Amino acid sequence: MPRSARLFVVSGPSGAGKGTLVARVRDVRPDLALTVSATTRRPRPGEADGTSYHFLTDEQFDEHVDAGDFLEWAHVHGHRYGTLRSEVDRSIAANRSVILEIDVQGALNVRKAFPEAVLVFIEPPSLEALESRLRGRGTEDEQSIRLRLDNARHEMELAGRYDVRIVNDDLDVATSQLLAALESHETK
Ligand code: ADP
Ligand code: 5GP
Repeated sequence: MPRSARLFVVSGPSGAGKGTLVARVRDVRPDLALTVSATTRRPRPGEADGTSYHFLTDEQFDEHVDAGDFLEWAHVHGHRYGTLRSEVDRSIAANRSVILEIDVQGALNVRKAFPEAVLVFIEPPSLEALESRLRGRGTEDEQSIRLRLDNARHEMELAGRYDVRIVNDDLDVATSQLLAALESHETK
């Protein structure tokens, strides 16, 4: 069946497994475009500018806000993050579906700017599992883990506003569910 390019937004609490799931889906569907977001947070070890994120100063971020370059932007865990319109437009024009992996407020803002976007919420099986995944990932200090867990409780309350909800318990099952959800919206 012919597919049409769609904008998918994948969000959910930090540590739910968004990055892991999106990477697995892209192994099967390398045609799916990912955008590189802009952020004011500092790079973590191993993160490259222009690949992981466009790492910007506050002043540079302000310039993009003023120029209207962002499809959406939000304050997340104490920093600013935003999706550049140019990155999304380029892929859709090339008939490639795009996946944005962004926070919950950003996702709901994308729907306002881009009503045909498909919003996918990835949830952990429990808050305990979320905490153990965040600790297991080993990228955050204690303060950042606490902040992410506090935010997770609020984020989970917004799950009902999404088009698709996937519980990431068994990784293989969740990966298949995400692949199926993308395909079903592309062939609608
Ligand atoms: P997010 O992108 O949502 O912040 P990650 O993809 O970084 O989350 O996943 C957080 C941690 O949980 C990682 O260490 C990852 O390997 C692990 N993880 C992801 N999915 C699962 C799963 N289904 N079961 C167990 N661990 C998982
Ligand atoms: P991290 O700092 O762990 O890379 O990302 C922190 C959070 O910022 C994650 O929830 C991630 O989805 C979100 N995020 C990343 N890029 C964007 C973006 O462009 N816009 C918004 N609103 N959130 C983003």
